[in-house]
Amino acid sequence: MLNIVLFGPPGAGKGTVAKKLARQENIVHLSTGDMLREEIERASALGKEAEQLIARGALVPDETVVAMVREFVKRKMPCNGFIFDGFPRTTEQAEALDAIMTAQGTAITMMIALEVSEDEIIRRMLNRAAIEGRPDDTMDVIRQRIATYHEKIQITSGYYRAQNKYRTADSSRTPEYTLQQILSIIQQAGRATT
Ligand code: ADP
Repeated sequence: MLNIVLFGPPGAGKGTVAKKLARQENIVHLSTGDMLREEIERASALGKEAEQLIARGALVPDETVVAMVREFVKRKMPCNGFIFDGFPRTTEQAEALDAIMTAQGTAITMMIALEVSEDEIIRRMLNRAAIEGRPDDTMDVIRQRIATYHEKIQITSGYYRAQNKYRTADSSRTPEYTLQQILSIIQQAGRATT
């Protein structure tokens, strides 16, 4: 299986690239942000709990997100692999993901972090706010989410770096360009999907 953890600051184009990669490699895309927004829309208990945290750019508790991911993975097995988008964001989540993968007889192949400058991030996000109207795409919350991101990437990249599973891709150009880089990183790692 090919199991990728995709990381990127808000506005890096992570969602777009993840969807393209999932299609290209025939693997399942899992976005914890999308899953949480669906829960909010459904006004479920989980959604109500998550709503205020998300609105101020804070993280949802580990147990909540981990339980959501565990159920999703179980439901999608068997498959060719996964692309985890926005997860794990803490060491606890990373350890839990390893356990989830082990239980399915597989493992995380690598983590890929998208790199883009802060000015470009803010430019893209204000653009997106004008189009999608996400309530957490305001200047203050954007800054908070970028700060939270920098904090979280240190933790998560350290976790995968220690296992020699950490790679970076330039995300300052087009999504297609980013995707090509990711595909060559995967190829270099000598992983073939079946
Ligand atoms: P972005 O990466 O653009 O901030 P996401 O859609 O990945 O957007 O996440 C939006 C929000 O959902 C986050 O700011 C956070 O509050 C919550 N969230 C998403 N994934 C996680 C996670 N793995 N752990 C905790 N909270 C999460």
